[in-house]
Amino acid sequence: MGLIVQKFGGTSVASPKHIENVAAKVAATRAAGSDVVVVVSAMSGETNRLLALAHDISRRPLPRELDVLLATGEQVTIALLSIALEKIGLEARSYTGGQVRILTDNSFNKARIVDIDANRIHKDLAEKRIVVVAGFQGIDEEGNITTLGRGGSDTTAVALAAALKADECQIYTDVDGVYTTDPRVVPDARRLDRLTYEEMLEMASLGAKVLQIRSVEFASKYNVPVRVLSSFAEGPGTLVTKEDEGMEQALISGIAFNRDEAKLTIRGVPDQPGVAFGILGPIGQANIEVDMIIQNVSKEGTTDFTFTVHRNDLDRGLEILQRTAQQLGAREVSGDERIVKISVVGVGMRSHAGIASTMFEVLAKERINIQMISTSEIKISVVVDEKYLELAVRALHEAFGLDQTPA
Ligand code: ADP
Ligand code: ASP
Ligand code: MG
Repeated sequence: MGLIVQKFGGTSVASPKHIENVAAKVAATRAAGSDVVVVVSAMSGETNRLLALAHDISRRPLPRELDVLLATGEQVTIALLSIALEKIGLEARSYTGGQVRILTDNSFNKARIVDIDANRIHKDLAEKRIVVVAGFQGIDEEGNITTLGRGGSDTTAVALAAALKADECQIYTDVDGVYTTDPRVVPDARRLDRLTYEEMLEMASLGAKVLQIRSVEFASKYNVPVRVLSSFAEGPGTLVTKEDEGMEQALISGIAFNRDEAKLTIRGVPDQPGVAFGILGPIGQANIEVDMIIQNVSKEGTTDFTFTVHRNDLDRGLEILQRTAQQLGAREVSGDERIVKISVVGVGMRSHAGIASTMFEVLAKERINIQMISTSEIKISVVVDEKYLELAVRALHEAFGLDQTPA
């Protein structure tokens, strides 16, 4: 008999009926002999609805108040699930993040978990209660409500599993596992049986939103086995763990894409020491994260510099870049948000050459122009016009044989 943390995402708790279905799943796990801690998201669409309410009033709602607002979504579902559990004869108790004492730092809207007080939960479990915890939220040292960023309930679940030393953290969602690419875009995508933390981290960082990035970092750091499963269908799901000897080493495990980035370009910058710092320094100071960067070869003493940021930061980034351009005497500044970043990911890449050239060849055949390229040990990313997203992902998926079951 062990302990399992089960997390149910928004679509899994979309209505009272769905919540009763979740209760039945929890009951089955319990009947099989495990203690269960459940983490739930807000009902699907609720977090967006709350955000829209705030934006109806203000273009820039106060981050602190936004968190007070957004945290209500999960408070609804913990209570409803506990009611559903009681109805089928299981003793349950719900807690908000603050009540468990999921202590976070004070960066509202994207807080990081610092500490979790496992005592109270252990006490409830010892008394045979099912503990239901609100995902996505915590409390800072001063008692302010904080939230963990979109998709943050995954992180709540994995962090709890780590703190409680659970045997497994199960993430129930609307797909029955992690796929070779988003099944909504490529119908031929295939479910993966297993994936390493490292691969999952790259997939998540590069845009596969099935798990929040922070949750995978947590899992890897504390070695929590994570299983992604469907709330609506039976099956083994996908197990995310550390790399082990017996693990089948796929050359490429998946293709991720990210539609949330925008590209900023500054042209005709004098090519001299300190230019990159001159351009990116003010961007960093404004707390804008930069992803890909390229600087062109200098022509007649000037160069062009391009980088990508989150789409939400495009306007602010442009303003800053315009000021920088004046100071540096650059020729022009432009921004483009009609881009998508597509990445091919796999640990097998370490020991195989030629992945990049295959990728470029496939894109060339489809006459898709590559605007930016970046590589790391286990991934290759390109930026292309967003209108090619589906074409590019499907062509790559096929070219790398991801639709075929490995022999
Ligand atoms: P939840 O509300 O349960 O947290 P999410 O919408 O956050 O669910 O995550 C599940 C979704 O992630 C799927 O519906 C799917 O469209 C998307 N997704 C993106 N990339 C992948 C992938 N490689 N494998 C599985 N799902 C993916
Ligand atoms: N409800 C939050 C969101 O929609 C957190 C989550 O679902 O994980 O982002
Ligand atoms: Mg999610």
